[in-house]
Amino acid sequence: MCTQVDPEIFYPVSLDPISSGVLAARRVCTGCPVLAECRADVMAHEDPARRWGITAGLTPVERRTLFAASRDSSPRSGAVAA
Ligand code: SF4
Repeated sequence: MCTQVDPEIFYPVSLDPISSGVLAARRVCTGCPVLAECRADVMAHEDPARRWGITAGLTPVERRTLFAASRDSSPRSGAVAA
């Protein structure tokens, strides 16, 4: 889907989650056949220092929150199960 729209749509001026620009980008992602794969890929490989624009239907703040939540819920390395 990304290749079928102007890439600028993913970089709206306002990243307010209910702004018209974010909603327009979300509409593209919502109809994308690879949304799940895109989201998994961005959560696994996105450089936090380069977290810009809308990707996989999420704003940078939403991706940061999702990434932090996934780290909080994963077992800590070196932890010992009770
Ligand atoms: S879900 Fe990913 S691949 Fe699909 S349109 Fe959105 S950013 Fe592009």
